[in-house]
Amino acid sequence: MRGWLNSIIFVLSACDDNTENKDNEISQTLMDWQPISELQLLNGYTESLSLSTSEDRQTLRVTSNSDTASCFQVNSAISQYNQELSYSFNTAQCVDCLWRTSVIRNSGLLVLEGNAEQLAAISFASVDCTTYLSNVSSDELVVEKLETELPALAGLKLRFNLSDSVVNDLDENDWATLISNELNLSILITSMNTISDVDVVLENSLSNDELESIIATLPDKDEGVIDIIYGPCLEIDTYFSIERLAGFTPSIPGGAGDMDAVFVARRTCGSRNTETDEPATVARLIAHELGHYLGLAHPEEANGTLDDLDSTTTSNLMHRNPLLVSSTGLTDEQVERIMQHPFFQDLSE
Ligand SMILES: [Zn+2]
Repeated sequence: MRGWLNSIIFVLSACDDNTENKDNEISQTLMDWQPISELQLLNGYTESLSLSTSEDRQTLRVTSNSDTASCFQVNSAISQYNQELSYSFNTAQCVDCLWRTSVIRNSGLLVLEGNAEQLAAISFASVDCTTYLSNVSSDELVVEKLETELPALAGLKLRFNLSDSVVNDLDENDWATLISNELNLSILITSMNTISDVDVVLENSLSNDELESIIATLPDKDEGVIDIIYGPCLEIDTYFSIERLAGFTPSIPGGAGDMDAVFVARRTCGSRNTETDEPATVARLIAHELGHYLGLAHPEEANGTLDDLDSTTTSNLMHRNPLLVSSTGLTDEQVERIMQHPFFQDLSE
């Protein structure tokens, strides 16, 4: 149940330029991203970009054009009422921020929900990908915008990717029902694939490069379909420590970049643990990680930091250990937030 704070200290390393298109992109359905600006980082900071408001759901995608790993963060976000929504560096760690955003590695989404619906101007600052301290960089950031209407019957499209050793007796509909029961939302599973030869990788302190390499082997998919990677173990090397996790979402929200997926583990790490979770338990972990992917934080972090929603208590699916809590579904505020994510879409399409 990797949390917001843990997620943002996740250490990032070199990767391919993710602005390059994959070979068979023609067969993919992509969303209608509109380029709106290119911002140059000068001494680590960009100038401010003015934005127009809209009645529709608005999402920004910000992508570095650097060939090497490039990390950056919202530096300033001003509302149309001249209010600062986000405070300098590491805003994901601030308690009273009006809009929490996490560090972006190479490419990431900023969903303009809640207070950020009033966003009028935004600027970015470069941070070191390991320490997240201020960093002098001259990378260029490409900013795109997506405006979508919320469909009447919205839900989530998932693609299941199971490693060789995962024992699975359930089909797409079974898994969709289990996850739907946890989230109380509509779920469609588009396909179930096996990813070969990653069991050993998943069992040995995964680096960012290895996470990326696993994702890079997956077939192309329509944009908006969320990849679930289900393996035997999740031992993650965070640079600061090696942690074994039950679930991991590399960025909050997800939806862009080379680590764009939700990871869950069966908690069977080689010979160290032969425990095999029930599908309902795995479904609960997936539901919790999907909450992160769509923009939700834990109601309360281990250090006492609270989320910014009034409606959440520790008795919630987004508890930092969701297996300790029996309640299912999300609060109305949580649902309102995740529905602003563009991957929450019409399942009939
Ligand atoms: Zn979590």
